[in-house]
Amino acid sequence: MRYISTRGKVSPISFSKAVMMGLATDGGLLIPEQIPRVDADQLRRWAQLSFQELAVEVMTPFLTEGEAVTGQLPELVRRAFATFTHPEITPVTRAGAFWILELFHGPTLAFKDVALQFLGHLFEFLLQEEQGTLNILGATSGDTGSAAIHGVRGRAGIQVFIIHPHGRVSPIQERQMTTVLDANVHNIAIRGSFDDGQNIVKELFNDLPFKQTYRLGAVNSINWARILAQIVYFFHAWGRVSGGDPARRVVFSVPTGNFGDIFAGYMALRMGLPVERLVLATNRNDILTRFMESGTYRIGTVQPTISPSMDIQISSNFERYLYFLLDADADAVGAAMQQLQGTGEFSVSEAKRRAAAEIFAACRVGEEETVQRIRRTWEQEGVLVDPHTAVGLEAAQPFPGAISLATAHAAKFGAAVRQAVGHEPPLPPSLVGLMDQPTRCRILDPDPGAVRAFMREVLD
Ligand SMILES: *Cc1c(COP(=O)(O)O)cnc(C)c1O
Repeated sequence: MRYISTRGKVSPISFSKAVMMGLATDGGLLIPEQIPRVDADQLRRWAQLSFQELAVEVMTPFLTEGEAVTGQLPELVRRAFATFTHPEITPVTRAGAFWILELFHGPTLAFKDVALQFLGHLFEFLLQEEQGTLNILGATSGDTGSAAIHGVRGRAGIQVFIIHPHGRVSPIQERQMTTVLDANVHNIAIRGSFDDGQNIVKELFNDLPFKQTYRLGAVNSINWARILAQIVYFFHAWGRVSGGDPARRVVFSVPTGNFGDIFAGYMALRMGLPVERLVLATNRNDILTRFMESGTYRIGTVQPTISPSMDIQISSNFERYLYFLLDADADAVGAAMQQLQGTGEFSVSEAKRRAAAEIFAACRVGEEETVQRIRRTWEQEGVLVDPHTAVGLEAAQPFPGAISLATAHAAKFGAAVRQAVGHEPPLPPSLVGLMDQPTRCRILDPDPGAVRAFMREVLD
């Protein structure tokens, strides 16, 4: 397999190069040149496999023949998922008429662990191969930062710098980051907002001499390896629910922000997984729902909600889907993205909009409906769900039998759960005692110069 850019200006590169490149050098996103196909016999066989065995089967066709990572894949997968506390890794449970795909059994109790635990080991291996080092820099409003830190803690050849707004992330999220004392983990709390943090990261990535000297890398959801790892659990959940019967088509409901998770579901569908619909569930930050309804992708302003990990107005992975929707016309994708940058919107034809809406059933879920869904799921099924999961479950209501993705553990968003049901969820073991553990964090002014100086101090 080789990888190309959605904007068509990168000559095909290998899997390893695609992982290390992150964002394509022409500003597009990297995608596989072809989508591997799975037949009915494979589906039957795959339904019998453990998560780890299945991961190797699903990922192998996406690797590049002859690269060393191919032989190492089973070991990377074994290590990546050894940190999960459930033997099934991503178990499927029942809640009334629905299935719940539990993606929160990793170290930070959110689905991003599935991809980032894998990416940490993959980066480490690729860096050993090339005898290189990588310095990851990112800004977080909470979830991504902690999953990234837990993904690369203790990995050789990697240092990670994560900026969060001082005092403006939840106490659990803060401690999940600052209690990680590994020598390669550097937490920075800035006296400012999340946007200040993002602007600092942007500025340092635009400082090309700095970026090259220190080989800065990113871990956001544009990295192809993150999508790849997430494809696995769509196959896994289908196998558990269908018993491996290729005639059994299922609906997945996916709470969505950056279109990453649901794009992995779309890839699974294109590979031949029997998927009937993908329910695209957004909170009131509904750019994706509006696109599916109108054919126009228009940027609005971000509104804070109780499902903050989906408070997003530009869905970076959407460009990958747009490429397939526009029949692999990279020039058309480039033109749409240029228009988006200039005018804040672009549109597709009514025929294309309809084609998209046949696959994606889009649904916007308001705050009150989210709280109600948490309450009903508790009262009727005895299951506590977090607000992101509740958005997916609410959107799934017209599709009984759907598999609804649970993207975070309820205890991670305890305040919202208490608002809905009157009590907080019991703490899972990884959160017990978290508030009493020692922490390490540097507090800095919201100034690129201060962050640059701190990074030099650590790295020189
Ligand atoms: C990141 C996140 C999402 C959204 O996932 P995308 O891949 O950005 O669509 C949903 N729920 C939780 C808990 C998250 O952390």
